[in-house]
Amino acid sequence: MGKMQKFVSVARGTPTKREAVLRREDFGEIYEKFQTDAAAEQAGRCSQCGIPFCQVHCPLHNNIPDWLMMTAEGRLEEAYELASETNTFPEVCGRICPQDRLCEGNCVIEKGFGGVTIGAVEKYVTETAFDNGWVKPVKPFRERTESVGIIGAGPGGMAAADRLRRLGYQVHVYDRYDRVGGLLVYGIPNFKLEKSVVARRADLLTEGGVIFHTNFEVGRDASLDELRDRHDAILIATGFYDYRDLSAPGSGLANIVQAMTYLTASNRKGLGDNVPEFDSGELNAAGKNVVVIGGGDTAMDCVRTAVRQGAQSVSCLYRRDRENMPGSEREVSHAEEEGVRFVWQSAPEAFLGNGAVEKVRALRMRLGTPDASGRQTPQPIKDSSFKLPADIAIKALGFDPEDLPTMFGNKKLAVTRHRTLKISYKTMMTNLDGVFAAGDIIRGASLVVWAIRDGRDAADAIDAYLNAKASEERRVA
Ligand code: FAD
Ligand code: SF4
Ligand code: SF4
Repeated sequence: MGKMQKFVSVARGTPTKREAVLRREDFGEIYEKFQTDAAAEQAGRCSQCGIPFCQVHCPLHNNIPDWLMMTAEGRLEEAYELASETNTFPEVCGRICPQDRLCEGNCVIEKGFGGVTIGAVEKYVTETAFDNGWVKPVKPFRERTESVGIIGAGPGGMAAADRLRRLGYQVHVYDRYDRVGGLLVYGIPNFKLEKSVVARRADLLTEGGVIFHTNFEVGRDASLDELRDRHDAILIATGFYDYRDLSAPGSGLANIVQAMTYLTASNRKGLGDNVPEFDSGELNAAGKNVVVIGGGDTAMDCVRTAVRQGAQSVSCLYRRDRENMPGSEREVSHAEEEGVRFVWQSAPEAFLGNGAVEKVRALRMRLGTPDASGRQTPQPIKDSSFKLPADIAIKALGFDPEDLPTMFGNKKLAVTRHRTLKISYKTMMTNLDGVFAAGDIIRGASLVVWAIRDGRDAADAIDAYLNAKASEERRVA
């Protein structure tokens, strides 16, 4: 315990956070990597709890106290081995998990002393492992003849691909995008997760033998049944891509855009792609008044992207108050530091303009009685309307799944009333034999860490399914 339990004498510290005025100028990540001494010192604040609530509240149940201790003792290679045993992409989670709601928010020393900076240490350990060449491509112990087709190269599909390949399966991943990573690449902005971090993992998977088929849309380039014929098992990890809309007067005006359209254009531009809608100014906030509607993480990414593009003003309209917003409190603070104006308890009533949007008319809201979920229902306050200048209005109202049975050409694929895929949570299998599912498409719009967890669980379920099939074939033969 010599190096641990220092939380009384050592204050909580994060890696150096770049000044907001500098952050506004570029899309670089806002935190630097921990220095070695600082990482060891911060890891040493952990009190090594008998019942570690950090671990309980981490969706991957990472063995946090042990890798914190190893970091404090300078045993970084062992710390990496342990961290990567339960987490396929610890450097991603260390950067973008909402730690304030998961591991760190539940750290027992959070009240009174400030929780251990778990995410930053996880990132530090993994980046150190990359720097030292400790992270190697998958090398299966033995090759298996069975192949698995994965639809979707987001974190759910990538995590499953990694685990299945380790088990020796021939893994093919199909994605309609031109790059691997799903929302890690085209949704989440660079200032939260640099794209090179995702590309590095995609390269490792390729080196390990995973075959990616990009620009391949299931439903257009092959039906689900055609893929079932090609592979011994299928995993669907297609995420959520139907956007919730807003039907207010003036919604048809130009320059009212969906959040993902806006973020994808910005991410593509950052990756060096040709993006005509950005170059023409349609999806570029430079010099403009921007109004973002919504209070989740997607809305936070939009406001902070607009700031970096050089917007003249950026306002965020959210119908509830700060305490009740779905996004991470940490992200709101970053946005405020960067100059975003939050207009709490307000909702759009109409979009005004002549051909293109010029103003958003909004109403003040009060929080009424709680609904069935316990959340107070926002209600409009009479005669409270006000106007905000808007050259671009961005709708960040959430996502729904696409209609997969129609898209995949198989009406038998069972869905819930929310259009997520129906699976058995014991086997992760849909109602179609040998077809499994993972990530947002089963859970609803969620988090990267949950997609990783589902991908790993689904890979284990596929392994169990294929092993059972192989022993049945041996028995019959
Ligand atoms: P996705 O990442 O959506 O990947 C699905 C993949 O399937 C995509 O690549 C898509 O092209 C492909 N696909 C879909 N249909 C087909 C088809 N028919 N054929 C072939 N390919 C197909 N989570 C966090 O933890 N932290 C954050 O900070 C965070 N920020 C976010 C910001 C934004 C803007 C958004 C939208 C989400 C954010 N999330 C965040 C949520 C997180 O990104 C998702 O929960 C996670 O990516 C889900 O992973 P997935 O693998 O299920 O799906
Ligand atoms: Fe915390 Fe996420 Fe890492 Fe788990 S995976 S320890 S929740 S940062
Ligand atoms: Fe350490 Fe906090 Fe986890 Fe306890 S809850 S083991 S103090 S990180």
